[in-house]
Amino acid sequence: MPTNGEADSIGGYSSGCLLGGQQLPSRAGILIAHPERKRDFGHPHLVGFLQRLSQQVDSKLLIGDLSQPRGGPIPGGHASHQNGLDVDLYYKLGAGNISVTMINKDGLSLAANVWKEEYEVLLMKVAAEPRVERIFVNAVIKKELCKKYPDNVLLSKIRPWYYHDEHFHIRLACPENSSRCVVQNPVGKGSQCGSELAWWFSSEALDIWRQRDGRQVERSFSLPEACRSATL
Ligand SMILES: [Zn+2]
Repeated sequence: MPTNGEADSIGGYSSGCLLGGQQLPSRAGILIAHPERKRDFGHPHLVGFLQRLSQQVDSKLLIGDLSQPRGGPIPGGHASHQNGLDVDLYYKLGAGNISVTMINKDGLSLAANVWKEEYEVLLMKVAAEPRVERIFVNAVIKKELCKKYPDNVLLSKIRPWYYHDEHFHIRLACPENSSRCVVQNPVGKGSQCGSELAWWFSSEALDIWRQRDGRQVERSFSLPEACRSATL
């Protein structure tokens, strides 16, 4: 269960916790892909943002993980999603809530038979939200957006990252009154469609990608002291 009281995002996205977490209601416009995981809690900024977004799009939002009721590290899961400000949104789910990849097997091109223009519109809409600080997408998807929206500065928020071929990851900024939330470095200026994006298609990047062991990522379990006292 979440703690009572005012919402507070503590620590970093990959080493933090959440007080006063709110559960995202699974209603019209919102489908939580794996409710049994109990990772559908977030800071009210995140829950409110998803509810508003669901009213602005025609199809349902297919929600992956937010955070656990009190945030913190997710056993066997993502490194981030710890302080109630991260959420994964699927582009599309298949039968039995199996996620559908948008990238061809070569890892270098978009699967044109499943990719839809409405996903591009959704990504740009999310990027326009002032509280959204970063969106992580597969580099192939960023490349496509750079083609469609050249020089759009909102693309600075849309960051290439490993995997993220069947979902994208939205990260909100630290809430104004969460004084212990660890602010990230600001994203660079401009669309970042040039050399920053090109690196992701270099042999160096592709080698790293191939060597990565499944979806294992480095994890930090050293939580801020405030998380220990607040969540135990
Ligand atoms: Zn994520």
